[in-house]
Amino acid sequence: MISHKKGRQVKEITSFSNPLIKNMRALTLKKVRERGGMFLAEGLKLIIDALDHGWRIHTLVFAKSNLCNMLLEKTAARAVAAGGFVIATSEKIMATITHRDNPQTIVGVFEQRWHELEKTIFDENSLFLGLDRIRDPGNLGTIIRTADATGISGIILIGETATPFSSKAVRATMGSIFTVPLYRISEKRFLDWRRKFPGFVIGTHLEGKLDYRSVNYTKEPILLLMGNEQKGLLESLTCCCNKLVQIPQKGRADSLNLAVATGIMLYEIGYKTFRFYKKSP
Ligand code: SAM
Repeated sequence: MISHKKGRQVKEITSFSNPLIKNMRALTLKKVRERGGMFLAEGLKLIIDALDHGWRIHTLVFAKSNLCNMLLEKTAARAVAAGGFVIATSEKIMATITHRDNPQTIVGVFEQRWHELEKTIFDENSLFLGLDRIRDPGNLGTIIRTADATGISGIILIGETATPFSSKAVRATMGSIFTVPLYRISEKRFLDWRRKFPGFVIGTHLEGKLDYRSVNYTKEPILLLMGNEQKGLLESLTCCCNKLVQIPQKGRADSLNLAVATGIMLYEIGYKTFRFYKKSP
């Protein structure tokens, strides 16, 4: 049985027009997510990841047909203990929340979490990734997941970007959204901050003069800059790099997919600077 701590109840909702359900449904809209600073995470794995990493849960809703699922019950009890509202409802209502025909059996509403670049401290192991005006939420989610795998210190979203808190991006992160520190900043504020950044800034560009494998990545704070899917790296960002590299290509494709290029770069830097080993050999 789900316990009812802090006076919170597990409420059953059967009406499509219930305000709590309507509010959750609206979270698929960017402007609503931005205004309230909330987002949806779908599926038991993501919700457990979020709770494990201390993300603040606002509401948890699950399909009543899953009431016998022990793990789901345990997760609902954790949400109650954390002060969240817990709602049992029908699969049809779940489908309207996620706007999907085959909805997950459990969906959580969490508070977004952003970090401040100006307050961040760097050391020789810091590896940051800056994404210039990334557009595609699927690319962004994939990049967050890959960056997490390489032990990234944080991802800086520069300028007008896709949000990592859309359902598509959250899903693509496979839970890494809850472990990678995220920053967002205007181009101007980023350039101001960069002047004070004590480390090495490496940009990727189709016209970069250096092969990415030829660079001597060393133990120091590193910031890797990746360009927009259509337009590449902004001139102002290109100019603020210590080095510009290119990943060689052989076939007819004029560029690599942004998420693929990011993965190649992060692994190269990770290996060259021994970031994947516990101790530098
Ligand atoms: N038409 C764009 C251009 O002219 O730059 C292509 C952008 S590409 C799809 C998106 C980003 O991925 C680039 O800005 C760069 O950061 C990275 N990228 C993709 N292929 C690359 C390559 N071969 N060498 C270096 N960076 C690459």
